[in-house]
Amino acid sequence: MSRDTVQWERMLPAEFRSAVDALPVVFLPLGTVEWHGEHNCLGLDALKAHALCVLAARKAGGGVVHPPMYGGMGGLDKPATVVMEPEMTWDNYLLRPWLEKLCYEFHRQGFRAIIILTGHYGHNQQIVVRETAARMSERLQIPVLGTPEYWLAQDVGYLGDHAGVGETSLMMYLLPDLVDIRRIRTDPEYGASDAIEKGSSPELGKRYAELIADRLAKVAKAMPRWSEAKLEAFIRAERALVSAQVKGWRKHSPWAAWQHIPERGLVHYGAYLADERFDEIEKMAGKLL
Ligand SMILES: [Zn+2]
Repeated sequence: MSRDTVQWERMLPAEFRSAVDALPVVFLPLGTVEWHGEHNCLGLDALKAHALCVLAARKAGGGVVHPPMYGGMGGLDKPATVVMEPEMTWDNYLLRPWLEKLCYEFHRQGFRAIIILTGHYGHNQQIVVRETAARMSERLQIPVLGTPEYWLAQDVGYLGDHAGVGETSLMMYLLPDLVDIRRIRTDPEYGASDAIEKGSSPELGKRYAELIADRLAKVAKAMPRWSEAKLEAFIRAERALVSAQVKGWRKHSPWAAWQHIPERGLVHYGAYLADERFDEIEKMAGKLL
């Protein structure tokens, strides 16, 4: 039997021990089941996040990937879609405490850093994930990163989408059996033009996926060794992002803090994170509104 897994649920205890010894970092992929056009599988968000975490752990040479967690804030009003908590409200009784509990459990198991990667990313999902991660970094005094996957590749043009060219390309590269691009022609919405069919490719998916995983692997390898000062700078930067997102939501519109990401330089978040330039992230966050 040849075994080479980074997935928690597939590991024998000795494999778990050696993965944690090699790198005491846990990856937690988040998503939901949601309509993603006639051309994509319904679990896209969670499956995409999970596949990216697996790729990142392999590149990092250690760490453990927790099974994907399905359910979160928001979801389209479409068939085959589960909405656990609504998108347009601050109410959050399920996702936040569940994430907190998992973080406590990971810490109790001896992990020294946590990476929460959400493949589902309405504004409130993003806010809850990033805010919970920053807060748990403080409570546990270990780094907890909570981010959508597309923030790691915005500088190469992946600004996040829903069943569009970005997500469809990622699926073509990561999980090709779960996307059937020809079926988009039967979809009156996503197939209204041929933009997604013509623009999506496994090559583009590879470009995005490899960059996201490279950056996650780099930060994962460094996180357990961060000094207290570095951890504090990280928390300040992540809190600054959340502050801008929450303030924009309240004073302007739910997506206000996302609208100026390209021209205010925050497309470089992925590079800044991988290079631990948290002061740059904090500075960019201050310019979002
Ligand atoms: Zn999606």
